[in-house]
Amino acid sequence: MKPETNQPETENRKPSFDDIYMDLARNLARRSHCVRAQVGSVLTKDTRIVSLGYNGPPAGTHNCDIEWAGVGCPKDSKGSCSLALHAEQNAILYASKNNVSIEGATLYVTLSPCISCARVIYTMGIKKVLYLDSYAEFKGLSIDEGVEFLRKFGVEVVRYFIKEK
Ligand SMILES: [Zn+2]
Ligand SMILES: [Zn+2]
Repeated sequence: MKPETNQPETENRKPSFDDIYMDLARNLARRSHCVRAQVGSVLTKDTRIVSLGYNGPPAGTHNCDIEWAGVGCPKDSKGSCSLALHAEQNAILYASKNNVSIEGATLYVTLSPCISCARVIYTMGIKKVLYLDSYAEFKGLSIDEGVEFLRKFGVEVVRYFIKEK
């Protein structure tokens, strides 16, 4: 059955910017050399891309999957890669390094921000975060600390769900 709508059909089939940027973040995640988790992120302002990133050690240092193939890279106390910058950090640092203002920006990220990224996101003045998977679910934690932190201090955080095509 066709749903009733006022919009012309062609308009309905166009992807939203949220769909486009989350798709891009998911594609970027596939570039990550990290063994345990692959995360991608896109920063936009006024619907234009201002930066992007994926998780991994700083450029020009390590490729975990090649250097520690099979065994995995050195882990930190929480069981994450001890060498990697998170996808959000990479996107934010790139913007900072290139003097691109991200005040008021929107962040698309494939995994909800951890608490330390949340602190940075808040400090940089990012106003909205859309995430795909839950960091708490991934880590087996009871709450998404990063999401709670951001919401508490007025950053809009929305979980994005992939639409059936
Ligand atoms: Zn690693
Ligand atoms: Zn993080």
